[in-house]
Amino acid sequence: MLILWIVCHNFRKFAQNNRISKMSRVTIKDKTFETSISEAEILESVKRVADKLNHDMEGKNPLFIAVLNGSFMYAADLMKFIKIPCEISFVKLASYEGTTSSGKIKEVIGLNEDIHGRHVVILEDIVDTGTTMKRMLETLGTREPASLHISSLLVKPGKLQVPLNIEYAAMEIPNDFIVGYGLDYDQLGRNLRDIYTLVKE
Ligand code: 5GP
Ligand code: MG
Repeated sequence: MLILWIVCHNFRKFAQNNRISKMSRVTIKDKTFETSISEAEILESVKRVADKLNHDMEGKNPLFIAVLNGSFMYAADLMKFIKIPCEISFVKLASYEGTTSSGKIKEVIGLNEDIHGRHVVILEDIVDTGTTMKRMLETLGTREPASLHISSLLVKPGKLQVPLNIEYAAMEIPNDFIVGYGLDYDQLGRNLRDIYTLVKE
């Protein structure tokens, strides 16, 4: 029985690694992307973040707020690893051209929960310049939560332009454009199980 388990386990690992070592490519519209982070690696990182949240948020009944559309896969997988009592809600960011010199303003829409006194964890797909998260922190901060935290699947530290404390980041990546696992290129590619990086021709 043990031998059978070992054989099956190793075969699964081999199959996973082999699939990735082949470096599959996908074409979306005019662009080519290449596998950069496998589903297995993603899930390992997501579980690590969940373990930390399970520890830090114990007894706090945290409210997770997932930012749609990009974070839907991250939110779903993360929640499966969260073992403490918690709640989840979903928001969207509607952007419109502001009248100020700062240009695009992003408004948080769809949040019906009263977050006053709650421990809130924002779930985001990727932090790039950090302006989106900074705006979310400002908006949610006015509603007086007990605490406000950021959990992002991905962070591009090389692109960050504003000081942000991203306490729960699953993975750090270089500055390249990526798709898959919820993230899109022109709304396509969100369904890909792995993460793909744009191939610069
Ligand atoms: P920020 O405000 O931090 O500059 O931008 C964050 C948003 O930009 C993310 O929520 C995401 O929608 C988008 N974004 C940033 N980098 C990437 C990327 O490499 N791929 C995709 N698909 N979206 C990105
Ligand atoms: Mg996003």
